[in-house]
Amino acid sequence: MKILVLNCGSSSLKYQLFDMPKEMVTAKGLVERIGIEGSRIKHTKVGSNAVVKDVDIANHKVALKYVVDLLLDENNGVLENLSELAAAGHRVVHGGEKFASSVVIDVEVIEAIEECVPLAPLHNPANLMGIRAMKELLPDLPQIAVFDTAFHQTMPPKAYIYGLPYRYYTTYKGRRYGFHGTSHYYVAYRAAQLLEKPIEDLKIVTCHLGNGSSITAVDGGVSIGTSLGFGTVPGVIMGTRSGNVDPTLILHIMEQEGLNPAQMSHVLHKESGFWGLTGISSDLRDIEEAMEKGNERATLVVEILAYGIAKFIGAYTAAMKGLDAIVFTAGIGENSALIRNKVCDYLGFLGVHCDPGKNDEMTGGKEGDISKDDSSVKVLVVPTNEELVIAKDTYQLVSQS
Ligand code: ADP
Repeated sequence: MKILVLNCGSSSLKYQLFDMPKEMVTAKGLVERIGIEGSRIKHTKVGSNAVVKDVDIANHKVALKYVVDLLLDENNGVLENLSELAAAGHRVVHGGEKFASSVVIDVEVIEAIEECVPLAPLHNPANLMGIRAMKELLPDLPQIAVFDTAFHQTMPPKAYIYGLPYRYYTTYKGRRYGFHGTSHYYVAYRAAQLLEKPIEDLKIVTCHLGNGSSITAVDGGVSIGTSLGFGTVPGVIMGTRSGNVDPTLILHIMEQEGLNPAQMSHVLHKESGFWGLTGISSDLRDIEEAMEKGNERATLVVEILAYGIAKFIGAYTAAMKGLDAIVFTAGIGENSALIRNKVCDYLGFLGVHCDPGKNDEMTGGKEGDISKDDSSVKVLVVPTNEELVIAKDTYQLVSQS
């Protein structure tokens, strides 16, 4: 069964074609600058060279038409005809409190995703554009939505209610939702496989550290707490996002500089984090390089990040009343031996002991255990694979219907 996995942004579209249940990716690609001058498609049939097309792409429907044509293309395609395509699985960022698992998209689901637009004003409209474009292009193709927030719907109220007047929760749905759920789910379950233990018996902290980062407590296979919240700013320091900040400081800055909410939001999302502290880069590779050359702010960023991650792991160990494994994933988690080492260094008292040799070797998409043999808490690096989760959920839902 062939399944198209789609991740639609406001001006981009990433796709992978899966052959299920073999879990094999046969083609993948990226459409960039949709609706903007200079749009292009990069398409790769797995095992062949990538093809790049510079073409005008006015909207997501045009983009999807190109994708479908490339999938059917005699030289670069992987489908003989469209009837081979069984379903499309979409990454949808926000499912609010409505969706705790993936669903087949129908009119009501579209309405519910629409209702969540105020909660994810940048992402949900783009996801909806992709869903609607696909519906127009291939009206009979089943479509499935897989939500970034769904995995965290198991959090108890004590973990998601903020200490604000309760009416802000009931009126504005103001609570912690958490994000990167598909990634946390994937790496936690993969870690259980690697440890050869039932996930029900494991207390795991998963650290998704990319341009956006979140740390999650996965107790017995379910999320019981996560560091992102109502939005994607809190938790640990990120590339351009601040992480946790005292809200009264934000109000003070707004007053002092006469900033309106949109301007302050820009500061918190785009001008803070590694970039805001150093003025060098939002990319940790550049920060680590500057640190090696003795740049003090870059050194401070690395210290703030490692300290922040270690504090969350400590907090979630208390929340779960125990810890069996720590999992690192995403760009930083999969590649930065420096950050992993510094984080583990704080946690020796919990029985976390990282093997420096194994840690240094674990980069570039490798998967495995980096803890010392006598470490009572296992430390794992697991490259994330959100697309595979989307393909599997889509396959399962389509097979059932
Ligand atoms: P996104 O959240 O956009 O999916 P990624 O998961 O690709 O992002 O992570 C991007 C981050 O990973 C960047 O901060 C980048 O610097 C970092 N990163 C990638 N490779 C390395 C590396 N070798 N060493 C340190 N950081 C790395």
